[in-house]
Amino acid sequence: MFGPEFLICLNCETPCYTFEWTGGKLTEVLCVACGNEEPDEFATEEDLEALASEPESGR
Ligand SMILES: [Zn+2]
Repeated sequence: MFGPEFLICLNCETPCYTFEWTGGKLTEVLCVACGNEEPDEFATEEDLEALASEPESGR
């Protein structure tokens, strides 16, 4: 099982290629642009697209 090609930093929206993907999830990551290293603050391209296409007024 392979991880994503890159992750997007939610702080500065920079694609990050320096990360470790273990057991189907992000374990270590570093955004070289802003220094963010919180896995929670990164999203895959897929995640981001899902967020973008989700209607805000659902509930
Ligand atoms: Zn960043």
